[in-house]
Formats: sequence, structure tokens, C-alpha cells
Amino acid sequence: RAAGDDRPNSEGRDMFDQPTIADFGTAIADSRRITYLAAPIVDGSPVDGAARPVRSPADGRDLIGNCVEATPADCARAMDSAARAFRRWDRTPASTRAAALDRAGRLLQDRMSELVALIVREGGRTQGDAVSEVREAIDFCHYYAKEARARFGAPIELPGPTGERNSLHLHGRGVFVCISPWNFPLAIFVGQIAAALAAGNSVVAKPAEQTPLVGAAAVRLLHEAGIPFDVLHFVPGDGRVGAALVEHRHCAGVAFTGSTEVARIIARTLAGKDGPIVPLIAETGGQNALIADSSALPEQLVRDVVASAFNSAGQRCSALRVLCVQADIADKVIEMLKGAMQELVIGDPADITTDVGPVIDHDARAVLEAHCRKLDGEAREIFRCALPEALAAQGSWFAPAAYEIAGIEVLEREVFGPVLHVVRWPADRLDELCDAIAATGYGLTLGIHSRIDETVAAITERLQVGNTYVNRNMIGAVVGVQPFGGEGLSGTGPKAGGPHYLLRFAAERTISIDT
Ligand code: GLU
Repeated sequence: RAAGDDRPNSEGRDMFDQPTIADFGTAIADSRRITYLAAPIVDGSPVDGAARPVRSPADGRDLIGNCVEATPADCARAMDSAARAFRRWDRTPASTRAAALDRAGRLLQDRMSELVALIVREGGRTQGDAVSEVREAIDFCHYYAKEARARFGAPIELPGPTGERNSLHLHGRGVFVCISPWNFPLAIFVGQIAAALAAGNSVVAKPAEQTPLVGAAAVRLLHEAGIPFDVLHFVPGDGRVGAALVEHRHCAGVAFTGSTEVARIIARTLAGKDGPIVPLIAETGGQNALIADSSALPEQLVRDVVASAFNSAGQRCSALRVLCVQADIADKVIEMLKGAMQELVIGDPADITTDVGPVIDHDARAVLEAHCRKLDGEAREIFRCALPEALAAQGSWFAPAAYEIAGIEVLEREVFGPVLHVVRWPADRLDELCDAIAATGYGLTLGIHSRIDETVAAITERLQVGNTYVNRNMIGAVVGVQPFGGEGLSGTGPKAGGPHYLLRFAAERTISIDT
């Protein structure tokens, strides 16, 4: 499928092919000889400061590099410089902006192996996930380049009475603050930035605190592709850095992917500021359900459930959290699920055979452990994978688990990790089930496994959800194919990798001329 003009989406790699496996193995070994650095990059120059070590979540002994966190003064310098650069970048022809993004896409392609190595080590992602992530970043660059050419190249002429010419012009809004998560340290980081730049904004980007090294590599690559130094700045750090950017008077828009809680804090901060009304584009969490009725094919259902719940150690906002299975087939499906979970290989993400790597850090693990302790008292454990002892001692590891619970309403919040909840629903209670799913307030992804068209239609009509997947897994949205983003507690909507995304980064101006 096309992500660019006539350009197909980036090509996959055959992860069973020996030379490919060897290539990634070499890249990971090579990366162990480098000490990476993520320092603030303001006007193209790295800023000096006290560095903290960045270690792999898979193994705390794996020191990958260092991070210099941005100070409030660095943030202010970045915002001021971006504000000065904005008009020049906005006046740069959309085709020139797009060409730089296409170059970035090609550079990402050329450097796939080294980026995969860094994502595997810093993000704890499996090699397969890391390859998909680099491909998604490439696709974002080309897709938004194409969209910029198509929509921002020339004004749209509009009808009017004789003697009047009307036209609609799209512009950047100013300095966009991009705040991205650790679970897609490259794809979402690059996607937000590419969209903001394509639309004519300058950008100050903050990577997640846990993954600054991938972010720094991406920003250097974007500069190399031709994004001017004063148009894109990089400020690693924790929530205080995010707050300084959002509060800054030059912040003209925020693109945020992360928790619903932090999105609310950003929205409140923006609402409380003097000056212009600043829009927020937020992509947050989900309490994602999959509804399976008795017409579902159990083998296919279980395969898709395992992929949706445990791929990326469940650390995707699209991941399946609650499998709702019709009572008639529940016992069979649960038995098969146990079998499939037994097969999962939990291990070092640098090992090609690994299915499930670590969770991102010890805090994440503590939250998951507390959740499972609570469930141990009130739910039935279906299966808990075994964690190889050698791993557990070194990193932030958490074994995939599945529990049968009374209903989706017992879950108070999103559980971001490899914990699957299973609910049985009686055949005559589909409406009540949909009500319970809707009552969570989230609306990100939904899975349906059913061979009955009327059931599929009834569920999709009833639930307000950004991405619905029928008779397949429910993760891994593809740029230009499954535009991604949710509603309600799951975010403000516009779909990343979709045709309307750039418009949310834009200011629209109408000019009417009496001729
Ligand atoms: N777009 C990703 C997917 O479809 C999820 C993004 C996220 O976790 O934030 O799986």
C-alpha cells in the first residue's frame, strides 16, 4: 500500500533469514562498543551538563550511554530560537519541507540495523518490534511529506460571487511542543515531529525520560536530512521539562502521546495560561476489549489474543486488556490460551527467538505486581508464565499473566503491561457487555471475533472506538492503512498516519479579494 506518492510502505525484513539475523546480531554487538549520549540539542549544538547513566531495562549492567537533562534555561533557549525560526520555515515551500522528510525516511532506512540495536537495548523491545518501529518511522516521514505536498502546496480556491476571489491557505501554527512515550521511542517521536514540521511548524521535542538515546539519534538524523538546526530542538528530561515547554509563552500547540493523566495535566496547564488558546493533540491509553462470540474460530482467536495482549510485553496503548468470550466457548478458549502462553519465550530482547522482553523499568514492574497481588485475592488466575531466574535478578522483568475476572468494571484503570483479563458473557448479554465496555470511558482499540455480520455491525455501531479490528489481531496499525488514535479517555482524536492528521497541526486562513 502507498505511504508516499507512488511509494510503497517500507519493506519488512525476514526475521527467519540467517543473513538478516546475523546483520542485526552484528549491529547489536557493535552498539555495545559505543557509549551513546543524549544531551539537549539547541540550535544544532549539544549542551553540556551533568550526565546520568542510561541502562537497559533487560539488564541493568548494560550501560548504553548517558543523558544530560535539559535545564529550564535550555528549554527557554530552544523555545525562543524555534519561535524566531518559525516564519521562515512556514514560508519555505511545502515541497522543500517534504523533500527533507523524504531524505529523513531514506536515512532511517539506511540506518535500520543500528537503530534497531539501540531500540532493542534502550527500549527493551524485541528485534521484530524494533524493525516494525523503524519501518513505521520511515512511513511517517514519507506519508506526511506526501500529505504536505498535496495539501500545503497551493491554496484551495473557493467559490464566490462574480468579482470576488476566495481562497483557503494552510500554515503552521508556530512552535509545536512534541512529547512522546518510551514504548515507541522512534516511531511516535519521529511521527509527531514529522507531522508538525510538514505542516510548517518549528518544533521543540522532548523524548520519554526512559529513552533519550533513541530520540537524540533521531534528531541528529533529521538535522542531517536537512531540517534546519533552529527549526528542530531536542530537550531530554522528565516531566519538569515537559511542563516548562507547555507553559512557555511561545508554545503554539502540543502533540502528546502518553497517559490520560498527563494529558489532563497538559490540558489544564494550557487552559490556565494567558495569551492564545493553544490546541492539544493527545493520544493516550485504552481499556481495550476483544469480543468473541461462539462463531469465532478458537485457534485463530487465541493466536490473535496472544499477539494482541503480549507482544511488546503488552506495552502498547493498542494492546488487548480484556478478552470477552461468549460463555459457550470460554472453557475451550481458556484451555487453548494456557497452552499458547506456555509456548511464549520470555528472554533477552537481543536474542532473536524472544517473544516477550522486559517491562520498561522497576516502577512499571511494581505497578504490575501490585495489580496482580490485588487480582490474586479477587480473581481466578488462568496462567502465569515462568520467568527465567537469571533474568529476574538483572532487569525489570514481569512474567505474562492471565486472570479471569467478573467483569470489565472491576478494572479501575489501564494496566500497561502483559496482563490479560478474561470475562465470560452469556449469549443473551451482548448489549450489557457493550454497555460495560462503553462505561470504561476509553475508546482506543476494539477487537471482534465473529463470523456473524449482524453481530459485528451491532458492536461497531454501539461502541465509540478509534480502531476496530475484526477477525485479526488488534495491534500494529500501519501508516496510511489504519490511521491510529482514539476517543474519550483515549485521546483527542486526529489519527496519526491518516489523511486529516496534518490539518490539526495547521492554522487555516481565508483570504477574500474584491477584484
Ligand atoms: N500504533 C501502535 C499500534 O497500533 C500503538 C501506539 C502506542 O502504543 O502508543 O500498536
